[in-house]
Amino acid sequence: MKGRLAVMTKFSADFDIREYTVPEVEPDAALVRITRGGICGSDLHIWRGELQDLIGAPDRGQTFGHEMCGVIERLGRNVTTDSTGAPLKEGDRVTYCYFYPCGRCPACLDGHRAACPNKRRGTRYADDPPHFVGSYGEYYYLRPGHFVYRVPDSISDDVATPVNCALAQVLYGLDRVRVRVGDTVVLQGAGGLGLNAAAVAKEMGAAQVIVIDQIPERLELARRFGADHTLSLQELSRPEDRVGAVKELTGGWGADVVCDFVGFPSVIPEGLQMLKSGGTYLEIGHISPGHKFEFHPASIVWRSQTIVGMIQYEPWAIQRALTFLEQNQRKYPFTEVISHVYPLERIGEAFHEAEWLGRQHSPHKVSRAAIAPWGK
Ligand SMILES: [Zn+2]
Ligand SMILES: [Zn+2]
Repeated sequence: MKGRLAVMTKFSADFDIREYTVPEVEPDAALVRITRGGICGSDLHIWRGELQDLIGAPDRGQTFGHEMCGVIERLGRNVTTDSTGAPLKEGDRVTYCYFYPCGRCPACLDGHRAACPNKRRGTRYADDPPHFVGSYGEYYYLRPGHFVYRVPDSISDDVATPVNCALAQVLYGLDRVRVRVGDTVVLQGAGGLGLNAAAVAKEMGAAQVIVIDQIPERLELARRFGADHTLSLQELSRPEDRVGAVKELTGGWGADVVCDFVGFPSVIPEGLQMLKSGGTYLEIGHISPGHKFEFHPASIVWRSQTIVGMIQYEPWAIQRALTFLEQNQRKYPFTEVISHVYPLERIGEAFHEAEWLGRQHSPHKVSRAAIAPWGK
């Protein structure tokens, strides 16, 4: 059996669509037929070449993408349940972790699998078996050691697509920084992460969610996702104005939690100034190496603040993300997060548009595009 795969051979360019042999499924593995592959902000960083230091040049042909959902095409003979213990069979709709904690390193031993340094997939080169290790192809090979979850019938493919990236990520992140009932939470950036985080923070009991962005339509959407206040970079153009606005909303004390979902270095010192004494700064946005910001250690010492850096999540976050969606997908506009769906052969266009979508100013559009390799 063969399957199609989109392959990046040049940064910021169209993709090659190639055919590869679909791998035989090992006893503890599974093969997924991908129904949606989402284009997340991280994928745009990769496509632009900003992560070349980490992942290498694209000349040999790279496959990537991590946000997706699909249907079980084949199950290895030892796999009879999903990771929650529920029966799993071919034809079931699933979402899954796109990384594989090793279970045998100091981080895993500490129960901190999100920090496992060995959890990346084996290859990024499309020519290397099992080929199907990214989200922009007809199949995904869920290798042994995977975490997989059945998607409830009530959750559509479009809503399920960002579960294993944005939603699981913010659900885990806000849990790690211990958002509590009555907190004020500031979210810097109203992209996929920020929107999901607004709803999650509200449902965790935050009294005030404050979202900062420069695009009015995103701020409007953030309000529908639960934001109590939005701060526009167009209206508050200086960092001190935005810091002042947060102080004003918190009786002069600052926020309990501030989160970077932007990935632009200057937001960090600004966010730290928005934080109350004893507050926690959650850093998720920066994935491109080489960025720097000026930092005054005494400021966090004298104010007993904590900075938490985080990549990915613990596998439990997906199960809870699905439960969260079952309960809240109608309360917040989760069905509008994926705004554009493209067939696999138009993936280059999808990336160019996603790049453009993030900057546009026409109303009711969201910066999330997805690829549907088997059609909508
Ligand atoms: Zn490990
Ligand atoms: Zn992502």
